[in-house]
Amino acid sequence: MKIALLSRNSKLYSTRRLVEAAKTRGHEIQIIDVLRAYMNIASHKPTIHYKGEPLTGFEAVIPRIGASVTFYGAAVLRQFEMMGVYPLNESVAITRSRDKLRSLQLLSRKGIGLPVTGFASKPDDIKDMIKMVGGAPLVVKLLEGTQGIGVVLAETQKAAESVIEGFMGVKANILVQEYIKESGGADIRCFVIGNKVVAAMQRKAAPGEFRSNLHRGGSSSLIKITPEERSTAVRAAKIMGLNVAGVDLLRSNHGPVIMEVNSSPGLEGIETVTGKDIAGMIIEYMENTAQRGKTQTRGQG
Ligand code: ADP
Repeated sequence: MKIALLSRNSKLYSTRRLVEAAKTRGHEIQIIDVLRAYMNIASHKPTIHYKGEPLTGFEAVIPRIGASVTFYGAAVLRQFEMMGVYPLNESVAITRSRDKLRSLQLLSRKGIGLPVTGFASKPDDIKDMIKMVGGAPLVVKLLEGTQGIGVVLAETQKAAESVIEGFMGVKANILVQEYIKESGGADIRCFVIGNKVVAAMQRKAAPGEFRSNLHRGGSSSLIKITPEERSTAVRAAKIMGLNVAGVDLLRSNHGPVIMEVNSSPGLEGIETVTGKDIAGMIIEYMENTAQRGKTQTRGQG
């Protein structure tokens, strides 16, 4: 196969591993920096040009689109889809999963376990919103936050009110969420490929911290997940329309609850902890599924 790998940085661990795995399995692979790709949308024959040359002959495309370039990255991927190139994850699924509110609404519609979550643009009555999600302690999150930044635990009603008022004062969009205390500062990353969780790891927060992000000093280790956790992760990825996803969940008293479904899950942590060749599994999955024009939407919607 001739594969395009959309990535802005060829030195990233995940990018390097995917290139290595594709070559090992006998494929041709080219890294494409999406911001340097330009497109002709007006013609009947959609094309993409890159550094002065048209991109041709690709059979599959692996999108690794960073959160900061979602808009343009999704447009380039959509163009590949319009050209009939098979996407590992579709553009529509990626933009869907990047919108936290939309994701939670889609998951809740299908009955997936979620922490009770409220969101509001300008609640006139913050007290009622706090009551709606079950009262303090609760977690207040900046909608645009990543790597645990802007995720605050408010232990009392007063603290919750001040934090919410503070975020609203700077016009930030927020989520207000039930605090899953029993998860004990740990979350589980399930790596989904197709209909399977191929690897899982636990991330545990540093002492005195409730956020398990590795960037916040958390540490990761091997974990055995339950059949319920397994099926929840696979269903969540499916609902988002992602073939490959990193599904983060917490263990709550009422079963697994989903935190987030990530469309470009990193490979370094999960390969290191599990010792598995996840990059190889991704390429193998593409060998079995990639077909010309095989997307649910062909970039529509
Ligand atoms: P980000 O997308 O910035 O990583 P998350 O929503 O995943 O933000 O939150 C970061 C971490 O904080 C989670 O991995 C989890 O450990 C902890 N956390 C977030 N929300 C809750 C919650 N409702 N209850 C308990 N812990 C939470």
